[in-house]
Amino acid sequence: MSAPTWILGGGVTGLAAGRASGLPVLEAAAVPGGICSSYYLRPGTTTRLPTPPPDGDAYRFEIGGGHWIFGGDPRILRFIRALTPVRAYRRRSAIYFAASDTFVPYPIQHHLHRLGPDVAAQALREMLNPPAGTPRTMAEALAYRFGPTLTDRFFGPFHARYTAGLWERIAFQDGYKSPLNLDLVIRGAFDGAFDPAAAVGYNVEFIYPEDGLGALMQRLAAGGDVRYGHEVVRIDPAERRLFLADGRALAYERLLATLPLRRMLALTGLSTDAPPDPYTSVLVLNLGAVRGPRCPEAHWLYVPDAPAGFHRVGFYSNVDPHFLPAPARADGDRVSLYVETAFEGGTEPTDAEIARRTRATVEALQAWGFIGEVEVADPTWIPYAYTWAWPGSTWREEALARLRAHDIWMAGRYGRWVFQGIADSLQEGLWAGAAMTTEAV
Ligand SMILES: Cc1cc2nc3c(=O)[nH]c(=O)nc-3n(C[C@H](O)[C@H](O)[C@H](O)COP(=O)(O)OP(=O)(O)OC[C@H]3O[C@@H](n4cnc5c(N)ncnc54)[C@H](O)[C@@H]3O)c2cc1C
Repeated sequence: MSAPTWILGGGVTGLAAGRASGLPVLEAAAVPGGICSSYYLRPGTTTRLPTPPPDGDAYRFEIGGGHWIFGGDPRILRFIRALTPVRAYRRRSAIYFAASDTFVPYPIQHHLHRLGPDVAAQALREMLNPPAGTPRTMAEALAYRFGPTLTDRFFGPFHARYTAGLWERIAFQDGYKSPLNLDLVIRGAFDGAFDPAAAVGYNVEFIYPEDGLGALMQRLAAGGDVRYGHEVVRIDPAERRLFLADGRALAYERLLATLPLRRMLALTGLSTDAPPDPYTSVLVLNLGAVRGPRCPEAHWLYVPDAPAGFHRVGFYSNVDPHFLPAPARADGDRVSLYVETAFEGGTEPTDAEIARRTRATVEALQAWGFIGEVEVADPTWIPYAYTWAWPGSTWREEALARLRAHDIWMAGRYGRWVFQGIADSLQEGLWAGAAMTTEAV
């Protein structure tokens, strides 16, 4: 009998691939879903529960912070709905300037009148007259698109935090996250009654499973052969053998891997001529607290100037009260949140640093009146969160080709080093899994 094909990683991409192909999935963790998994915390406790307790008295959080399912092919959304019931939501997001305690609806470039007539006029002039030349870095591209006024006020400080300082060195990507429609910019600069926010951006509407993201991942996993607790620690591409943390070795014919591309090069010992592209890690702090008197109604806020250094605050319970402990849902006096702070990849903070940041974050949110007394504060370190590229880099293509030459095929956001969300990861996993088991005729 020939050696099997293994799928590496049981996040959404690997689970979908396993389901489409019937191939076994090797997953290091004890639960499915990777970054897309939910867990539960009773108020005043620190022990994570994989499922809600029978009395429902627990906050529901996600490992990677709020994960909303937006975009996606309609057939994939139909597939998700067939697995688990979902609810649909309409985005409410804003920029929060902490220093001036000001909220500006997202996207800021379509709401210039909120910045006052002088700033609006200056920013508009700059956007209508972009400089000559071709921007190379993210910093240059943002200044080119939005002009120095808006870049100094928002895009610069926000992206400096979001990319952990890389924005002046990396290529611009994911431009759709900062949409620019000059008609809407002009109307939004002068007309305070016009609400251009409703129509634009990549996540105007999103869906989320009624029973939580974890339930969707469990139902996706239930259709496949997932081997939990199987951490791959080394791969010998010449001998086609992989080694597990428990000492076992497994032969393979081909691999479909969803682990981060950089990690796969390290596991296989393969190298590239081009220097590796960078990535950022994220510290996600999940909080359950008494709702503060000035807690906004937004689903999430982009914050360019928080003293504690974070760049985004999301409010799970503003999306749906089901994130709150059942006994607290009717009163509306609690709130659950996620707070994201970015770090350059490979610079993991110590436990003491995480504790210090947790305190600073809570103090900032309390000072702004967003939260009162904290009931749970639970941080998670996401080592690979956002993948980036150096301008003109050929590393990604080279790395994928090196692995392919050994019949190791990469899939997913981290595997292929591309920006994509849950729906696209699910779609990619389904077709990659199907392709691995389809022979040419
Ligand atoms: C902060 C943040 C917020 C996000 N918000 C959204 C959002 O709102 N909406 C959205 O659509 N998308 C969002 N995303 C993107 C979304 O998380 C990804 O698209 C998706 O999780 C990618 O799934 P994946 O299976 O490819 O990777 P992963 O979830 O990383 O899965 C990889 C799996 O491999 C396993 N693994 C790792 N190493 C090994 C090993 N050595 N051996 C065996 N198994 C291993 C891991 O345990 C994991 O289960 C967000 C991402 C981040 C970082």
